[in-house]
Amino acid sequence: MTPRGPGSLSALRLANRQRLLLALTGAEAVSQAELARLTGLAPATISGLVRDLVDEGELVVRQGVANGRRSRMVERAPVPQRYGMGIDLGRTHVKVVAGADPGEVLTESSAGLAGGLRPDSVMEVIDALAATVRERAGLTADQVAGVAMGVPAPIDIATGSVTETAILPELVGFPLRDEVSRLLGRPVVVENDANLGALALGRRAGAAGRSVVFVKVGTGIGAGVAVGGELLRGDAGAAGEIGHLALDPGSSAVCRCGRRGCLETVGSAEAVRSALSSALQRELGLGEVLGLIGDGHPVAVHVLEDAGELLGRGLGWLAMILDPAEIALGGPLIAAGDAWLRPVRQGFRRAVLPGVAARTRVVISPLGEDTEAVGALVAAHIAVEKRTHKQDVNA
Ligand SMILES: [Zn+2]
Repeated sequence: MTPRGPGSLSALRLANRQRLLLALTGAEAVSQAELARLTGLAPATISGLVRDLVDEGELVVRQGVANGRRSRMVERAPVPQRYGMGIDLGRTHVKVVAGADPGEVLTESSAGLAGGLRPDSVMEVIDALAATVRERAGLTADQVAGVAMGVPAPIDIATGSVTETAILPELVGFPLRDEVSRLLGRPVVVENDANLGALALGRRAGAAGRSVVFVKVGTGIGAGVAVGGELLRGDAGAAGEIGHLALDPGSSAVCRCGRRGCLETVGSAEAVRSALSSALQRELGLGEVLGLIGDGHPVAVHVLEDAGELLGRGLGWLAMILDPAEIALGGPLIAAGDAWLRPVRQGFRRAVLPGVAARTRVVISPLGEDTEAVGALVAAHIAVEKRTHKQDVNA
């Protein structure tokens, strides 16, 4: 086994190195003598390789006991934890979370958007929240491998900006992805928020290969669809904008898209708030509305039931096209629990064929109010993996 040149020497070294790492993968710490036996390599070769691999951060060595004798025990270094940041932008609030992959929220911080959705005030709030979250999680900016941001509007994936003029007019044309990336000094992915929710649910254990829909019911209504863990975005990122299904074209309610009877004018959280405000003849906040529903206020419960049933009907249309395994609900009305879910299920059953009604589970998202944020962490993780993979391929 005399090496004939630098090329074959490094090839041999590489093979030995892989043999050693393989022997330690998934194993407990072993002594160097045991490692020599496991790999068939000479003790001197093992010593040299271990020294190099410790320097490279692949292995750790500590004092231990093997066969009753004090020995240097070798094991694989723990995989360095990779952190991501998720940003959930709503019409009236921003939430920023930090988490370790694959999507567990470690800490979060949120704030209202006092300056509305003007790009400069949005950026200011994101900057402050990101700093708070990094501090709470004990992370430097460099330790955040990637950032993903959810926005309640269709997104042009190529440019990371908002495309639909009627839904989030304040941010159309603003290079959201590039500006947030410049602000935080990290790579950023911008995605529709309902899509992020679908990604979180579609990548759960047990969801493999299934179609899962996440419906975000807030000021507007948007649906994200994940099929086999992959998002169905449509050609221009506008798939799932069910808030603008004209459920009742003869309605007097004019939507912000200019048409009448859109689902969001009757089935959104904002629709519930506004209908209850006019019924009780005073302007209510969403928090008060949820309080009245929780207290079983009969007028509030009626308004919620009407909205829930119409939402369920809209979801039925979606299910007749997609035949998903599960439709999970998110947004502030999940706080109303069964009082909301019951009428949604009823509207759904009336809108679909019996087979679809029997098969499709309509539930409140098991990830609760963290659904979109967990999805953002998952998206950040996927983006980091893709970048790493690209670097490997280019190397
Ligand atoms: Zn509309």
